[in-house]
Amino acid sequence: MSKEVTTPAEAQWIIDLKWLDTNKRDFSVLAKDSLCAKCRKKLKTDTTEPKPADILKAVQSCCAKADDFITPGLPLQESIFRILVANGNKPMTLEALGAELNKRCGTDAHRTSAGFLGRILQNDDYYGIKEK
Ligand SMILES: [Zn+2]
Repeated sequence: MSKEVTTPAEAQWIIDLKWLDTNKRDFSVLAKDSLCAKCRKKLKTDTTEPKPADILKAVQSCCAKADDFITPGLPLQESIFRILVANGNKPMTLEALGAELNKRCGTDAHRTSAGFLGRILQNDDYYGIKEK
């Protein structure tokens, strides 16, 4: 039985920390890679597990401002995850996510259309990006 699920345009997406927790995934481990070298050192990611709030704060105030925070070579799901982290994990619509992707790395129109992103995110069971 296959049913095509379409995501309404007004739906908003967040990284569901509770989902990650339930599925034994650690936000800090996933988000650590988006930190710049300086913040990794500051938050001592080699020896400790930084708190999600500390990572969100560091990325927002520092790392996301770097040109190579999101590059065209990065997998799409990782890019979306980083955009949400850079936004303080505030809910975002697919359209807003697509616009941010375009701005960040000029991805072609198909890969950033709301319909395409919606399908990608509905199939995500790694980053815990869920409809709010
Ligand atoms: Zn940083």
